[in-house]
Amino acid sequence: KITTAEDLAEAETRMTIDRFAALADVRVGWGYDVHAFESGDRVTLCGVEIAHEAKLNGHSDADVALHALTDAILGALGDGDIGAHFPPSQPQWRGCASSVFVRDAIARLKRRNGMLAHVDITLVAEAPKIGPHREVMRETVAAICEISIDRVGVKATTNEKLGFVGRREGIAAMASATVRLPLDGAES
Ligand code: MG
Repeated sequence: KITTAEDLAEAETRMTIDRFAALADVRVGWGYDVHAFESGDRVTLCGVEIAHEAKLNGHSDADVALHALTDAILGALGDGDIGAHFPPSQPQWRGCASSVFVRDAIARLKRRNGMLAHVDITLVAEAPKIGPHREVMRETVAAICEISIDRVGVKATTNEKLGFVGRREGIAAMASATVRLPLDGAES
C-alpha cells in the first residue's frame, strides 16, 4: 500500500526493476562509418557543429558518429542498415540532420517494445579536438535517443598520424548500442 513518499519511491523502484526484468532479451549492436573531408569550415559530430578547417563530404550532414550509432541500433535489432533504410539515391535526405536516422532506428526499437540501455561512440580523428565538446555531444546524443546522459559514452582518439585518418583525409567513427527487448518478441 502506498501512503508515504518512501512507499511511492519504493513502488517506482519496483516498477523499474519489473520493466527491466521483462526486457530480458539483451543485445549489443555495432556500427562503423567513415566520411572524407572536403573544403569547408565546420563539421557536425554527434549532432554538434564544430568549427574546423574542412567539412565532411556526405549526402546528409555527414555526421559520421550518428551514422555509426544508427547502424549500431539497427544491428542490435537485426533490421538492415542505414543505407538500406535511407538510400543516398533518394534526394529527400540531402543535407538532412542525421538525428533523423537515429530517431528512425529508435522508432523501430519502440515498435518492438524495446528500450535503449546504453550507447558508446568512439571518434577517430587527428582534428578537431573532441574533448572540449564531449559533454555537449553526450547531452545531444542523450536528447536524440531520449535516454539519460549516464547511458551515453563519447570517446575520441587520434590515429597516431597513420593511414587516411592520420593524413587528415577524413574521420572514422565506431559505435555500440545495447538494447533490451521483450523475450516474447511481441510488436506493438
Ligand atoms: Mg555515413
